[in-house]
Amino acid sequence: MDAELLDHQEPHKPGTAARLNWLRAGVLGANDGIVSTAGIVIGVAGATSQTAPIVTAGVAGLAAGAMSMAVGEYVSVSSQRDSERALLSKERRELRETPEQELAELAGLYAAKGLTREVAQSVAEQLTAVDALAAHAEVELGINPDELAHPGHAAWASFLSFVVGALLPLLAISLLPVSVRVALTVFAVALALMLTGLLSARLGQSPWRRPVLRNVLGGALAMAVTYAIGTVVGHAV
Ligand SMILES: [Zn+2]
Repeated sequence: MDAELLDHQEPHKPGTAARLNWLRAGVLGANDGIVSTAGIVIGVAGATSQTAPIVTAGVAGLAAGAMSMAVGEYVSVSSQRDSERALLSKERRELRETPEQELAELAGLYAAKGLTREVAQSVAEQLTAVDALAAHAEVELGINPDELAHPGHAAWASFLSFVVGALLPLLAISLLPVSVRVALTVFAVALALMLTGLLSARLGQSPWRRPVLRNVLGGALAMAVTYAIGTVVGHAV
């Protein structure tokens, strides 16, 4: 029953996979913002009980992290798009210059997927008549020419999701009473990491217990290590 249920939840509509990728990237960005900002504010809280340096470090970490994520995403998605464009224009040129070989190549690729020679030939001919470039791009390159990645969108999505994630530990440590703020920030971060772990497991349609546990333990480890480092450095300087 489970297999059948999963099968029916598979993304079939065009664009669903792309949308899922965005959601996944958003959840990962938020997760990054939560863990790195929690590490910073808790690390500084290990060194000092003054609120100003803790909040200053947290805000600087939020800004630096969000921009670094956005730039990194922009650069990586841009180069991915550049290489996709280069591959598509090479394919376009081959289709223009050697259409016969390209048709034979397409039929060969469908035959390699398990279709009989005749069916592969007929599929290749029909798809070539509809949109030759799209057919070659899909089978040879795994690219949909109408759905190339947008570096600007990716950069903004990373930036915003990182900020949203980072605000949680930052607000927790700034607004809570001094005596309990470290403990309650750790608790709030653990809850938030449960949520992002759960979301990413749901988006991947995988079982959730292990991913949630890994996510919470990873974040807890990061906070424990930075708190220890903050305490040691705070005493040393
Ligand atoms: Zn081709």
